[in-house]
Amino acid sequence: MTGILKKIKENLFLVFIVLAYAVILLMKPQMGVQAVQNSGYYIKEMLLIMPVIFILTALLDTWVPKQTIMKYLGQESKFKGIVLSFALGSVSAGPVYAAFPICIMLHKKGATIKNIVIILSSWAVIKIPMLLNEMKFLGAKFMIVRWVLTIIAITIFSWITSQIVKNDDLPKENDESEAGLNINVDACMGCALCVQEYKELFEMNNRKAYIKEHSFEPDQDKLKKAINRCPVNAIEFVKK
Ligand code: SF4
Repeated sequence: MTGILKKIKENLFLVFIVLAYAVILLMKPQMGVQAVQNSGYYIKEMLLIMPVIFILTALLDTWVPKQTIMKYLGQESKFKGIVLSFALGSVSAGPVYAAFPICIMLHKKGATIKNIVIILSSWAVIKIPMLLNEMKFLGAKFMIVRWVLTIIAITIFSWITSQIVKNDDLPKENDESEAGLNINVDACMGCALCVQEYKELFEMNNRKAYIKEHSFEPDQDKLKKAINRCPVNAIEFVKK
């Protein structure tokens, strides 16, 4: 019983959706059938697209080093990162949900929230083939004005989002220090925030953070705080 409750809690959103379908089917059967058919269509589309996206994400994750992502899309990337994020989103193909696994991988490797918002937004509304079609049907003036205003809006919204949503608000693949995992520091920029947060576990050497030799089981709360304070997501878990 506890196991079932735990599963429900973990999949609360899915449970809510299933209940919503059940209510619609009971109250308005025709509309319910239509809703189920529409959802089936999109699920089928996702099942065709997502395996390719997962393979692409895994390849990017393996081939592109963390330092490169940090340099071009991380905190130090500044204006260059904004331009690159617009370019990445604009040249991408496929529906916007295909961008989510790629974006979480980029974030894990140090891309900022602001740049992630720019990639997602430009992926959704300023794809280059779409701009060409827009120009064909609505004219060049319409397309250019909308494009410029959209870029300004995305830039503003991405900044606002980065002020509200912080790194630790996004799920991390290895969010907990479970048995069988080691902590590793990679691509550290030497700010020493992790040491401030958990000095029994982290130490600085030559402007880089290291894990101290330790025989104790790290305190999960303190470790999570240290991980979340790292501005470049340099602390990660690796399999033993
Ligand atoms: S918080 Fe991150 S960047 Fe700063 S010293 Fe620690 S590991 Fe390095």
